Amino acid sequence: MTPYKRCLLGLSMAGALQLASCTSQPTSDGETMTSEQTATEKLPADVHSYAQPAEAVTKHLDLDIDVNFDQKTISGTASYLIDNLTGTDKIVFDSRNLQIENAYLGDNIEETTFELGETNQFMGQSLTVKIKPDTKKVTIKYKTSPDAAALQWLSPQQTAGKKHPFLFTQSQAILARTWIPIQDSPGIRFTYNAKVKVPKELLAVMSAENPVQKNSTGVYTFEMKQPIPSYLMALSVGDLVFEKVGPQTGIYAEPATIKAAAYEFAEMDKMLVAAEKIYGKYRWDRYDLLVLPPSFPFGGMENPRLTFVTPTVLAKDRSLTSLIAHELAHSWSGNLVTNATWDDFWLNEGFTVYFERRIMEELYGKEYADMLNVLGYQDLKHTIADKGADNADTHLKLDLEGRDPDEGLTDIAYEKGNFFLQNIEKAVGRARFDQFVNDYFNTFAFQSTSTDKFLDFLRSELIKGDEELAEKINIEGWVYSPGLPEGFTAPASSRFAKVEEAYNAWKSGKPAAQLTTKDWSSHEWLHFIRMLPETMSLQQMADLDKAFNFTNSGNSEVLAAWFLHSIKNNYATADKALETFLTNVGRRKFLVPIYKALNATPEGKKKALAIYAKARPNYHAVSTVTLDELLK
Ligand SMILES: [Zn+2]
Repeated sequence: MTPYKRCLLGLSMAGALQLASCTSQPTSDGETMTSEQTATEKLPADVHSYAQPAEAVTKHLDLDIDVNFDQKTISGTASYLIDNLTGTDKIVFDSRNLQIENAYLGDNIEETTFELGETNQFMGQSLTVKIKPDTKKVTIKYKTSPDAAALQWLSPQQTAGKKHPFLFTQSQAILARTWIPIQDSPGIRFTYNAKVKVPKELLAVMSAENPVQKNSTGVYTFEMKQPIPSYLMALSVGDLVFEKVGPQTGIYAEPATIKAAAYEFAEMDKMLVAAEKIYGKYRWDRYDLLVLPPSFPFGGMENPRLTFVTPTVLAKDRSLTSLIAHELAHSWSGNLVTNATWDDFWLNEGFTVYFERRIMEELYGKEYADMLNVLGYQDLKHTIADKGADNADTHLKLDLEGRDPDEGLTDIAYEKGNFFLQNIEKAVGRARFDQFVNDYFNTFAFQSTSTDKFLDFLRSELIKGDEELAEKINIEGWVYSPGLPEGFTAPASSRFAKVEEAYNAWKSGKPAAQLTTKDWSSHEWLHFIRMLPETMSLQQMADLDKAFNFTNSGNSEVLAAWFLHSIKNNYATADKALETFLTNVGRRKFLVPIYKALNATPEGKKKALAIYAKARPNYHAVSTVTLDELLK
């Protein structure tokens, strides 16, 4: 996921889970991989799931559902092939806000009993289904609630085309259980097939092998051959068309958006080639993008084979495509090798940010990647300052027991994780580190792994008892300590040095229109705007706006950074654009700082509440959970 930035009752699962490891897994080529692991692998308990996979675990899902836009519900059956590992008489699923109608066993659909546990705000309820020692198949008949947190139902007005309704899911971190009864833990993997019935004028796509055009029946079938964790279950339904980009890549979008998207993401294939050059073969067959309506709460979501992406990266100049590099990188870090619990989230995101920067360096050079590192470092510094220097939530390894796992979705996992890996690279050299990461991805492919398992691998395969190297890598300082370790050297950027020159000239009185800003990318503009003083006169604001037209920028990153200044300095010229932005865009990364800035004064708060009342129906639950809290 790209930022941004949910759980729970201290439900302690006794002991460590024992998961049968995948000794052989089919890959995209039908080739077989052999895991070097022993028959059982110990993973830490997942405090955010009721499932007890050490007893009975799901291996394959057959989903058969109807999507009803009038009722805003999904209904049907989730049929699981299971392994009953201990001969137990029950299998436990996660369920939140679902109406469970019936449960059946086996192919002859023999009715069985089920029980729903106590409701917890974030975790929902346990769904315990009675099975027999020899049960291989469990089928659950269910229906979602109209306010299921994973589902966003958009009216035609909220789409680009304005003619048809739209639906998309966001399952990460623990929202899959709001649209499918499921063992909702990243430590549990399964393959799936799905049959989805939608209104005839719409197309359905999933995190699976996808259709490229609508059919006359409105019934679509899907297959995901590679085992995935539940948070990668994804579905979208809308007036979608497909356009090919390269041999392995393409884009799904509304007809009104497809041309702009095809232009913006024309370099997808090059990115895939660059990524494979660094970490080996892409293992998911196709890599396609789905461009969503603007209410999507994240930058992107790495749903396998089909990344979901915000239209706020359609900057018309391909300047925000590092987000695509990020989501593509997740095909290795996250989707292939997965964090076992949300306490290990940095394993997904830190590796992905590191890999994203490597892809961008491969394509556009080191100076380009340096800019991304500096911007990332600025974000990280703010997060650390915000949380407080001693806060345990600034450790890489988190303890989110009793809390919503979304609380771990901060720049710590992303940027501190990235800088830890860059630090290891610096200590051993790029060639040796690349070999190590390749080995890591191959050893743990299609498995989940924990912080402890990664660190064991790091010690045995890279550090190998070299004490001097261990000291340089400093596991304790990075993983189990707050903030940034002593001796950390902040990243620098030569392109940003030129931006700083221009900024200093402006600060000493040079008119904005006379600054040298030729060929600046989005990143340079963002750096410039972030440097602007907290307090500016209306004349200074107007001078900048007249020279660079920030208020009317088509670039969402530039706009969002500029609005922070326009709010603080009561620059009313930007008010209309601000309101339009907030009512159209649902990306939490932009919304949270803007609403926070508004919320800082009584007058601003009044404005924020008025806009929020209008805009809230356009936001996904992922964003409204955060904003309800902020604006209460
Ligand atoms: Zn990510």
